[in-house]
Amino acid sequence: MLTREQAIARFAVDGWGAGYYSIDEQGFATVADKPGSSNVVRIPDVVEELRRRGFRSPFLLRFPQILKDRVGRLHSAFNEAIKEFNYPAHFQGVYPVKVNQQRVVVEALVQESSAFRYGLEAGSKAELVLALTQELHEEALVICNGYKDRDYIELALRAAQAGSRVVLICETIHEVHDVLSISQEVGIKPAMGMRVRLNSRGSGKWIESGGAHAKFGLSSLEILECLKLLEQAGCPDVLRAIHFHIGSQINDILAVKEAVKEAARLYCHIKRRSPGLDYLDMGGGLGIDYDGSSTATDWSRNYTLEEYCRDCVYNVLSVCEQEEVKPPVLVTESGRAVTAFGALTVVSPLKVIGRTGPRQIEPGKDPCHQVVELRSILGDISRRNWRESVNDAKSLNEEVLLGFKLGFVSLEDRAAGEAYFSEICARALEVMNPADEDSEEVAELQGHVAPMVVCNFSVFQSTPDTWAVRQVFPIMPLSRLTADGSALATIGDITCDSDGRIDDFLGETGSCTKTIPLPSLNLDEPFLLGIYLVGAYQDTLGDYHNLMGAANEAAVWIDGAGEFRVVNQYRGSTVSEAMQPFGYERQMLVSRFDDRHGGDDSADTLRYRDCFLRVLSSGTYLRR
Ligand SMILES: *Cc1c(COP(=O)(O)O)cnc(C)c1O
Repeated sequence: MLTREQAIARFAVDGWGAGYYSIDEQGFATVADKPGSSNVVRIPDVVEELRRRGFRSPFLLRFPQILKDRVGRLHSAFNEAIKEFNYPAHFQGVYPVKVNQQRVVVEALVQESSAFRYGLEAGSKAELVLALTQELHEEALVICNGYKDRDYIELALRAAQAGSRVVLICETIHEVHDVLSISQEVGIKPAMGMRVRLNSRGSGKWIESGGAHAKFGLSSLEILECLKLLEQAGCPDVLRAIHFHIGSQINDILAVKEAVKEAARLYCHIKRRSPGLDYLDMGGGLGIDYDGSSTATDWSRNYTLEEYCRDCVYNVLSVCEQEEVKPPVLVTESGRAVTAFGALTVVSPLKVIGRTGPRQIEPGKDPCHQVVELRSILGDISRRNWRESVNDAKSLNEEVLLGFKLGFVSLEDRAAGEAYFSEICARALEVMNPADEDSEEVAELQGHVAPMVVCNFSVFQSTPDTWAVRQVFPIMPLSRLTADGSALATIGDITCDSDGRIDDFLGETGSCTKTIPLPSLNLDEPFLLGIYLVGAYQDTLGDYHNLMGAANEAAVWIDGAGEFRVVNQYRGSTVSEAMQPFGYERQMLVSRFDDRHGGDDSADTLRYRDCFLRVLSSGTYLRR
């Protein structure tokens, strides 16, 4: 048995769990309403409750209390920094709706608005409509980003007139013209913002979002043009906010500091000509420690929330002091950092494919010389020669495959060649000391040897970024986490797309690896897997690839130690619901069936019809 500490270390939970997710003494995965709280619940208990209600995997579990805690933490970290540096203005965040538009998510966040003046950021007309229909604090901001047309601008202006604090951020110089002319036409003074294009860039996966060639934002030439336009129109005071956003998941704090310094300098120069300016909106980008390493990898970051806030406050303040300009109200649009922890996908393994243990290999009669050589490599492999053995085996196996294609190697020899090669890789891992070896080489071999555990879900629906940007999410069994032996595996989904797999995992030391340790590969003793931190972006980027519909969903409220309530539950898509958005109405499907078979009332046809209807009404995922 492992101790709880060893189990936690094996999955780097202390890094990515952030006090919300952990493992208990009995080896069960747990969730808490906030870090340090004694209100801790075992995740398998929640799943059991959903099963009692007739729900089957995959599940998306939402924890609204975690979302609320994230908003509170963001604001208190800024407030602490403001106190520490005697910053003479306040902080108020906005939530960028595009990160997760689900009503349960937005409304859990908006409930914190009254405590923190927490507002919303919209990037389209639909998101603006969403924002305008929420109950926000009267001083909460509604920030309008994204390219805009007449309707978008007019709706924002009229909402501002009716009392919402709507700020129209101009992404281009054309939008400055449009906002000025439409506001004149409808007779409403705008609250305008300017998205500035910084020379500073983000860092990490989304580095291309910033810099001189970014898609959005005004260059310095255009900033001057905008100021001139406002002065000519006699309304330099309509400019209320300066905004920048240098990309998501910034992994290096230096990139944050540089961008903030540059933006603060711009703010001061602009403020001298536009005295109405009072908000500096520093955009999103606050990173999450997905791989648990707390370093500047693509899926982590080398700073904490507190450090981020202190750097923002300190750098804005010092630039404003140098420039002798009154410091602005600070705004951020952190999305990922607020919502990522709020949801977890639970999937169940269905079957194991590939090599699950040592294999007996029987070459055909009179095998080709490559197969004979492979057999002797397997017999001779040792700690000293394993690397050479693997390399030789690789080229011999390739020769066998080529020979088969050209017609002079038998199917039996081809099978033996493949089998010897994977046995040699597996033996290499046994004879070497993996801890002493180059971890990438070891990970590569492990990935090659490991079987794939096929789980009841779709990568494209539940974790699209594993496919789209090769994102690493923490993945962990939900039980038996302190069990001794473990089997390394990769994960596949049930779509028939060969990209529907996960083969990047977090490693024990924070490095990424190609396999995940599972309690066993014997699925007669079932266990569940949790794919964590999927609350940002995954919900709405998810698609219907292969017509796998939405997973079952539940919002869970944690009441006390071991006590929880399922406050909302949604059944995932049925087959006909998953087809409907693509023009296949249920009724149409049934009438087509009946047109084809209606004349025939034989028992077989009736049974066929029953089966057809039953499938239309059942879930899209597999029944175990
Ligand atoms: C996407 C986006 C955000 C959110 O970024 P996170 O990295 O999720 O915090 C904020 N602002 C703008 C303008 C965006 O496009």
